[in-house]
This record gives sequence, C-alpha cells and structure tokens, in this order.
Amino acid sequence: MDINTDYDVIIVGSGMGGMSAGAMLAKDGYKVLILEKAHAPGGCSSSYFRKGFVFESGATTLIGFNENQPLWKLEQETGIQIPREEITPSMSVWLDGEQITRYKDREQWIQECIRVFGNETGQRTFWEEAFNVSDLVWKVSLRNPFFPPQKISEWGSLAINNNPLDVWVLKYALKSVREVMQEYGIDAPKFRRFVNEQLMITAQSKADDTPFLFGAAGLTYTNYSNFYVPGGLLEMVNTIRAFIQKRGGALHTKEGVEMITKDKGQFTVHTRNKRKESFAYRAPIVISNIPVWNMKEVTSGEMRSYFQKESAEYESAWGAITLGIATNDTYPEDLPLHHQIHLKEGKTVPFTDSDSVFVSMSKKGDTLRAKAGKRTLNISTHADPERWYSLNGQYETAKQQVQDFIVETLQEKLPGFSDAQIEVIHTATPITWENWVYRKKGRVGGIPQTMARSLLKWTPSETPFKGLYLCGDTTYPGQGIPGVTLSGINVYYRVVNS
Ligand SMILES: Cc1cc2nc3c(=O)[nH]c(=O)nc-3n(C[C@H](O)[C@H](O)[C@H](O)COP(=O)(O)OP(=O)(O)OC[C@H]3O[C@@H](n4cnc5c(N)ncnc54)[C@H](O)[C@@H]3O)c2cc1C
Repeated sequence: MDINTDYDVIIVGSGMGGMSAGAMLAKDGYKVLILEKAHAPGGCSSSYFRKGFVFESGATTLIGFNENQPLWKLEQETGIQIPREEITPSMSVWLDGEQITRYKDREQWIQECIRVFGNETGQRTFWEEAFNVSDLVWKVSLRNPFFPPQKISEWGSLAINNNPLDVWVLKYALKSVREVMQEYGIDAPKFRRFVNEQLMITAQSKADDTPFLFGAAGLTYTNYSNFYVPGGLLEMVNTIRAFIQKRGGALHTKEGVEMITKDKGQFTVHTRNKRKESFAYRAPIVISNIPVWNMKEVTSGEMRSYFQKESAEYESAWGAITLGIATNDTYPEDLPLHHQIHLKEGKTVPFTDSDSVFVSMSKKGDTLRAKAGKRTLNISTHADPERWYSLNGQYETAKQQVQDFIVETLQEKLPGFSDAQIEVIHTATPITWENWVYRKKGRVGGIPQTMARSLLKWTPSETPFKGLYLCGDTTYPGQGIPGVTLSGINVYYRVVNS
C-alpha cells in the first residue's frame, strides 16, 4: 500500500479541538490533514440536515469571543472570522412556573437573582466573587498553554507567566460551589436547584461536587457575549475548514482512523473509508481529537498501555438524550433562544436521573435552518450511558417514552409550543451518539469537573510519545466549545515549542 507523506501534521477527528489546533498550525505554514470518520465535520458542535431542516448535533450555546477567551484568541491569531450574531438575553430558566432571565449585564443579573431568590447581600457578594474568579480563570488559562505542567521548564514558565497576586483564586480548586454558597448564606433549596442544573450543563456535575474554580466560570457563562451562528454550528466549522484548506491542508470526511503506529520518529496513521478502502499516512506529528477512552482502540503496545492507564480513572461520564423537533413558528416574538426547563421537584425524565431539559431554538427568520414561518428546536438532557446500554429489549419503548415525556413537558412549559404543529421529530440516545461521533459508550460533554479531579490530574495535551498530542473535551481544560478550542490552541504551542 502507498503511504502518503504529503502532510506535516495529521489530526484525528474534526471536533472544535482538532479544528482549532489545525487552524493555528496552518497559519504557521504547517500542512495539516484532518481525518474525520463521520459524514460531516464538527463532531459534537456541528449541524445535520433532516427533511428540509437543519438541526444542531450537540452544542447550541456559543461563548468564548470576549477578550482573553479562546475563540477570541483563535480569531486574533489566524484572522478567521466566525460568522455569528450576538444574542441577548443569553437564556431563560423556567423554575416552578417562574421565568428567570439570564441577562448578560452583570448588575441586571444580580438584580434578577435578588428578585427571584432574595437575600440581597448574599446574592450580590456571591455573584461578584463568581465574576472575579471567572474573569481570572479565563485570563490565566489562556496565559498557560503548558498546563498541566509536564516538565521542570513548564513549572518554571508557570511561575514566570503568572502574577503572584492571582494565587488567591487557587483556594477555590478545593472548595465546592455548595461550600461557597453556604459561606455567603444563600444555600437555600430553590437557589441550589437553580445552581445544580446550570452546573450540569457547564461542568457536568452539581454544586456539592464542583470546585468553585470551574463552577464560577460555568455559572457566569451567560454573562459573557453569547452568540448564534446563522445556518448552524457547521458553518463555524466550515469557516475553519476553508482556512486550513486555503493553506494547503485537507479534511477528509467518511475516513476513520483505525490504527496509529510509530517507528523511526514518524507516525503511520492507518485509515478506512466508508467503501472499506484502506489508506496510510506518515507524518512526524499526530494530534488526536478523539476521547482518551477511544485512544486505546487505535493504538497498540506501549501507547495502548498508556491510554488504558490514563483513561482508567475516568471510565464514566454522562451521555445525552437529544431530540430534534421542527414546528411552525407559534412562539412569542421576544422568546429567548435558549431555555433550561426544570421539572417539578422530585420528577425526572424517564430512564434518566435528569431534573431538567435544555431547549435551543433556531432564530426567527434563519431560513438556512428552517423555511420562513418554521423553527427548529434542539432538546437535550443528561442520561447515564450504562443504563441505556443495558435496556436490551426495552430500548425502543424507553426511547419513545422519553420522547413523549419531553413533548408533554414542552407543551406544558415552553411558551408557544402547545399551539405548534410538529412536522419532524427524532430522538437520539447514547447508543445513537456512539454510532454518530464514535465516542465510546456515547459519552459526551467530557469528563465531569468534580472535586475528585484535582487541577493537576487532567490528562495533558502532551503524551510520552514524542510528536503525539491530545486535544478535545477529555483533556485539559475540558468540555464546551471554548474549552476544547483552548485545548487545540495549547497543542499548537506545544508543537511549535517542541
Ligand atoms: C447534547 C450536547 C449539548 C452540548 N451543549 C453545548 C453548548 O451549548 N455549548 C458548548 O460550548 N458546548 C456544548 N456541548 C459540549 C461540546 O459540544 C463538546 O464538548 C465539544 O464540541 C467537543 O469537542 P471535541 O473537540 O472534544 O470533539 P468531538 O466534537 O467529540 O469531535 C471528535 C470527532 O472525532 C471523530 N472521530 C471519532 N473517532 C474517530 C476515528 N477513529 N477516526 C476519525 N475521526 C474520528 C468524531 O466523528 C468527531 O467528529 C454539548 C455537548 C452535547 C453532546
């Protein structure tokens, strides 16, 4: 078999982690090849076409373009302009029949919290501290591409790059969000329910188990600029793809990586396309954007043992149930695009332990996603993949029950939905997700940012195998489009400094 040696860097997977690493390297003249097993690029932040409508694959909310945030950095460095429109307010939360508006403006948001949860002093001081921590976390994260440090020199650069006055924030790596709420006297049941569900969509864990260091950034993400990409997030990915291709790079879809081997300082990447044809590529640098759990399936020997060990501690994470629904547009003019809908206290979505559902709508008039007078909705909720993999004969019934439950919930709680005619509806479970983006057991959203996961315990982007790097939501700094974009930027710095 011929081995293609045309590229300097091979990237496995075209999620936002891989796309960001690829763009940063392409701007420096590296010839980049991205290999993507699925039909379309983008993984969990992409879009798909179904019966005349465009739905988002996973992510729907988009932040990271404020100064010191990862997408700001990506655009600054490469000159890429991701097509987007700012949305405001960022989100509505529906809790016990009440609409809580997540205003971007910080003072307006504090006032909203005081209105809903009372305790003026407690709420104000809690949120002010959360903003301080979050602003600093973004700034410090961007300043430290070699985190977590692997070598003595990287410990040294930690000391040089950082202001000793910022060290105060580290205490929050050891304090849970709940403990901070208790300190401020605002740990009341209603506020805790609100915080828990907001954390679940950002840190993948609840107030008791999320360090305030990450939790503060998660809780305040609606207070940075939030964006909508007309046509869907695939447009963002395609913009980056065009940038890479213009600089001599390529992105092959429907071509999965089956094995990565190393000899004589070079990697050989073996692939197979949907027609079962095999290919091989050779390059000195390989960047993997697939979850660390999946790496042991595409490596052997020492490399496989490393990934087996690295992922063993984190062999569990959330999966998702997602629905795509298209309807006629019966929604109030001023309805925000994103909604977190709490279920009645004590109630959960069937076959999950989830207390809420998240709904994102296409923008009114976005005719790239839905014809005039129509809208698309993406709905998601957390689910334990193990449970869905053990349903066996009950699987189809369970899937239908979840779908019916979510439709009923929207009819009851999402303004305008009960008047809408459903034109298209489909549901994906962790099993669908595994067949779609090939993530082991359909685990999505990265590894929960729990208290057990100390700052230094994150899987680093550098591996012990010179030239092999990792990015994406199972490596530092974790999930979400901004998180994985930062992981890709960090890999770039490691490559150019190696
Ligand atoms: C339902 C849901 C809602 C979310 N909501 C938000 C949100 O609102 N905002 C936000 O910021 N984040 C959100 N997230 C999280 C965010 O989408 C992800 O953390 C992020 O997109 C993951 O990016 P990644 O770079 O790790 O790779 P992925 O997106 O996982 O991409 C990896 C790619 O690798 C490909 N691949 C896998 N195996 C192979 C192989 N062997 N060979 C070649 N290619 C392979 C896959 O097909 C995939 O395209 C959400 C996630 C989900 C699932």
